[in-house]
Amino acid sequence: MSDPDVTPDAPSDLPDSDLMENVVGLCKRRGFIFQSAEIYGGFRSTYDYGPLGVNLLRNVKNAWWEAMVQRRDDVVGLDAAILSPPAVWEASGHLSNFTDPLIDCRKCNQRWREDKIDGVCPNCGSTEFTPARAFNLMFKTHAGPVENEGAVAYLRPETAQGMFINFVNVLQTTRKKPPFGIAQVGKSFRNEITPQNFVFRTREFEQMEMEYFVPPAEAQHWFEYWLDERFSWYTGLGIPADQLRLRHHGADELSHYSAGTADVEFLFPWGWDELEGIANRTDFDLKAHAQASGERLEYFDQVANERYVPYVIEPAAGATRTMMAFLLAAYHEDEIAGEARTVLRLHPKLAPYQVGVLPLSKKETLEPLARSVLTSLQPHFMCDYDVTQSIGKRYRRQDEVGTPWCVTIDFDSLEDHAVTVRDRDTTEQVRVPIDQLVAELRSRMDQA
Ligand code: ATP
Repeated sequence: MSDPDVTPDAPSDLPDSDLMENVVGLCKRRGFIFQSAEIYGGFRSTYDYGPLGVNLLRNVKNAWWEAMVQRRDDVVGLDAAILSPPAVWEASGHLSNFTDPLIDCRKCNQRWREDKIDGVCPNCGSTEFTPARAFNLMFKTHAGPVENEGAVAYLRPETAQGMFINFVNVLQTTRKKPPFGIAQVGKSFRNEITPQNFVFRTREFEQMEMEYFVPPAEAQHWFEYWLDERFSWYTGLGIPADQLRLRHHGADELSHYSAGTADVEFLFPWGWDELEGIANRTDFDLKAHAQASGERLEYFDQVANERYVPYVIEPAAGATRTMMAFLLAAYHEDEIAGEARTVLRLHPKLAPYQVGVLPLSKKETLEPLARSVLTSLQPHFMCDYDVTQSIGKRYRRQDEVGTPWCVTIDFDSLEDHAVTVRDRDTTEQVRVPIDQLVAELRSRMDQA
């Protein structure tokens, strides 16, 4: 791993200022991300993921699940409920602590998070504000037909508590022993005061979190282990290491439960900002839920004949925020034979489509063969079948959405039973026999 701690904060490090506009424009134009309820004027801070965005987001989550669950024998998965009773959030500390300091500008009445502005109203430049008050970020609702206090429920503001309250269920049903983890991917909700920067900070978003339960004496070791693992996950999927850094929290910044936290940060167009927080949550959560519920949330080590409450190391990432970082890092404009093109250099595992299947002509003679190539690829890859416009235009369209390989079926294919495979990044084209196509693309995928 490079030394991400020392990456400077200088403004000259900021990416091209048009980048954000270009990526947001591409997302809308090509169907990655739409403003939610757009036909009604839009609903602030909520977004819908279109046909390409849903593939990309799903691939981000699958890549995380593969690394965090599938390829490990010490981590299992969970999918807990989004609606939860106040008792959970009382015990976790969220009812009293999950707040942001809210201030109002006395001149223009705009509301801000005190810790996110520099003492000057970003709207009108005034320095006169109301005193800060704590604003709880949880969405409150009612379960059932009666809207009284007894029916209050909350939409979870993080997935993590699902893992703590199911700790004993998982322990008993899987026979895991520390160090072991429980991973979850799913929606979380926060009533953010100032949602901003496209899908970077929204009120409804998706998280990818893992709680790794360890013997207390090993907590520091595992904290450092997960810092390395998580940093490498982003670089392994194509984010250049110089656009990433690890930033350790100062003592005054630590959450109420944390004995140490570091963020994986990405160089966004507005500067360094968080993709993921990795925290040593100590035994705070298990002890708090044990005390509030009266249940024993412990591990009994039969060999040592001792009972203890594990410490927890938590890598907590945002799926939607991470997807945005992958898009920003992948966006490039270059030239092919003197012609400008936009290309998303997404890792093939993340690309919305892995393969574009393009019959050279719409003529009926090519259609049956092209369709049979498509059906032979579909069990293995997400494919886009495109017959409209010139082949050059179709290549550009696939480049723009990050499709790593295009397969072209031409009139020679009817004779030699081979197709042309074009690479998105090098634009190199090679002829591949149709009966070797799946193996060829799979091997390229494995090498990516
Ligand atoms: P921030 O300081 O940006 O508000 P946080 O430190 O409160 O975030 P965590 O509670 O550590 O965030 O959540 C883990 C991850 O969930 C974050 O690193 C981020 O990727 C994602 N996340 C948190 N809040 C949001 C949000 N409002 N919109 C999108 N993603 C979010």
